[in-house]
Amino acid sequence: MATNADSQIIWMEGKMIPYSDAKVHILSHSLHYGTGVFEGIRAYRTADGRTAIFRAEEHFQRFFDSIRALGLHCPYTISDLIQASCDTVRANEFKECYIRPLAYLDDSIRGLKLPDNPKALVAIATWAWGKYMGDDGQTKGIRIQTSTYRRADVSTSLPLAKLTGGYITSVLARREATKNGLDEALLLDPQGFVAEGSGENLFLVKNKEILTPPVQFILPGITRDSVFQIAKHLGYSVREANITRNQLYLADELFFSGTAVEVTPIREVDYRPIADGRPGPISRQLQETFFKTVQGEVPRFNSWLRYV
Ligand SMILES: *Cc1c(COP(=O)(O)O)cnc(C)c1O
Repeated sequence: MATNADSQIIWMEGKMIPYSDAKVHILSHSLHYGTGVFEGIRAYRTADGRTAIFRAEEHFQRFFDSIRALGLHCPYTISDLIQASCDTVRANEFKECYIRPLAYLDDSIRGLKLPDNPKALVAIATWAWGKYMGDDGQTKGIRIQTSTYRRADVSTSLPLAKLTGGYITSVLARREATKNGLDEALLLDPQGFVAEGSGENLFLVKNKEILTPPVQFILPGITRDSVFQIAKHLGYSVREANITRNQLYLADELFFSGTAVEVTPIREVDYRPIADGRPGPISRQLQETFFKTVQGEVPRFNSWLRYV
């Protein structure tokens, strides 16, 4: 059922389809076995009143990396899908929206045995999506818990690929956290180090230095990379490091990065306030610069914007 936030038109296999007709067959392989790949991208209204997709090139590069990791074949190019995204945003007359590309297998394949390089079908949907953690979460910080679920091991899944099937762990972890009255889950990796949230990467600030887990068990976030580059541009030292739960409790600041959460401070972990329980100055500065960047107000990073 469509909601008010949804688009009227969805791009499917090169065609603009009305929302209510954008359907797949009940026997679609991806629906049964999680053999799909997706992306999450945002388009922002820029300071000059135009609309720009944030880091479209990098998102579709990762989309194709995920498709390749899963062993699917996608007949489109990165520039085809960037163009399709721009067309879809424009067709729906969104000034700002979330963009959801999906590559999936249809009902022509039954059972687990995939043919070599099966052809993925592609759809691109858009919808209006405000603050993922609410306005309050974004300004005052959110409360999270260490999840009882762990991020998949490198031998159980493909942690660097954004797979639909991989998201079952994220959904269970997020539900566990919200049932406990918290905003989000934090998953540890199989070795017990901090990995990431259910759909966002984590940063820790200690003594003005910024740390984040290495790309091993985590999804290599485009927002994570943006924060990395913005922080360096602002003169901070940023480095990848294994982080323990103990270090979280002693952090000066913690925050999440992701297309959905953007930059969101964390004010509490496992019912313990982080520092004084309020978003710290570096988190706030990075958040502010991130929002300026997506609105085209940081010239250094203007090449990240693709105007629709
Ligand atoms: C998509 C995703 C992220 C965030 O990536 P962005 O490119 O910044 O949106 C982080 N973790 C997981 C598990 C994800 O699926």
